[in-house]
Amino acid sequence: MKLLLLPGDGIGPEVLAEVRRVIDGLNAHHGLGLNVENGDIGGASLDRHGTPLAPHVLEMAKASDAVLMGAVGGPKWQGVSYELRPEQGLLNLRKGLGLYANLRPALCFPALADASTLKREVIDGLDILFVRELIGGVYFGEPRGIETLPDGTKRGFNTQSYTTPEIERVARMAFDLARQREGRVCSVEKANVMESGLLWRETVTALHARDYGDVALSHMYADNCAMQLVRDPRQFDVILTDNLFGDILSDAAAMLTGSLGMLPSAALGEPGMPGLYEPIHGSAPDIAGKGIANPCAAILSLAMALRYQLGRPDLADLTEKAVSDVLDAGYRTGDLLGGEDTRLVGTEGMGRAITERLSA
Ligand code: NAD
Repeated sequence: MKLLLLPGDGIGPEVLAEVRRVIDGLNAHHGLGLNVENGDIGGASLDRHGTPLAPHVLEMAKASDAVLMGAVGGPKWQGVSYELRPEQGLLNLRKGLGLYANLRPALCFPALADASTLKREVIDGLDILFVRELIGGVYFGEPRGIETLPDGTKRGFNTQSYTTPEIERVARMAFDLARQREGRVCSVEKANVMESGLLWRETVTALHARDYGDVALSHMYADNCAMQLVRDPRQFDVILTDNLFGDILSDAAAMLTGSLGMLPSAALGEPGMPGLYEPIHGSAPDIAGKGIANPCAAILSLAMALRYQLGRPDLADLTEKAVSDVLDAGYRTGDLLGGEDTRLVGTEGMGRAITERLSA
């Protein structure tokens, strides 16, 4: 098995160094047998190759079983033209690998329940998986633009559109993932006011009836889902939704869990194509180079790759448990709430503590 690591910019290389440490531990003590390659992306690639994603790196990605990225972007590249921006490297990579589903877990570790803005009893044990459509909907629909009207005022417009195959492939992924969890999918749209939402609901319902009778399916309007996420978030198992609603609702759910430094994600495409795994945080230029970034989100992204693509759900469980144990033992990076009996560590200290638990 081959994993391509793309450290990128800012804290990206720092957190991926700890991912590397965890992989070395899993290879040495648990027979993982994962080969690791490194490549450039984002500003680092722009500086070295004159482009945020060089063709040879895309080829390396396609030849891998999975890709794990750190983060891209930073003030150094703020003035560069649109097509050379570091973020463009990430968009080109997603496009090049045909990644149409974004998986974002919102998971609350018991040791961090008090870091949430919600009460412990509402949040403790939270474990939601968002499956968000990633390359369709209103962010990509045509026509789009800003036009000047005859009276001199302007009109900005975008198009929300989904086809049956676009809905079916992401819904299939949500149902398949639910089978590995509690077996419940809640499909979220606004079928009451949007035709694209109505087609979404009809397509998901038909696919469920055809192929997924063993999974429990419910439907919810997006505005209600926003309310339910803060009222009783533990009612959800898998939430399936489109690009726009998924963007907003998964960010809201993420913050229920406390810190940006704890949240992994994955983007998946057709079976057989490598997925892209990455922490949801950015390059954090304000703390880059200081050795204080939280590597947990990146390490949990590796756990997702082990679970969903590298065929080792056992080692995914082990890695997630090691993170949870280390938090229970009181280890905290600066972004996590203090509390009694906690011990402040840096990026390396956290990575080492997790690796030691794994290797024990
Ligand atoms: P950010 O996520 O980089 O940082 C937001 C805040 O959270 C900062 O105060 C940062 O110090 C803190 N933070 C983030 N990750 C942390 C971690 N692992 N440990 C401790 N603290 C952490 O978001 P931003 O400041 O809006 O963006 C900075 C740069 O990152 C921009 O160039 C932006 O375009 C880019 N960005 C990249 C990605 C990506 O690579 N997927 C995502 C978001 C933003």
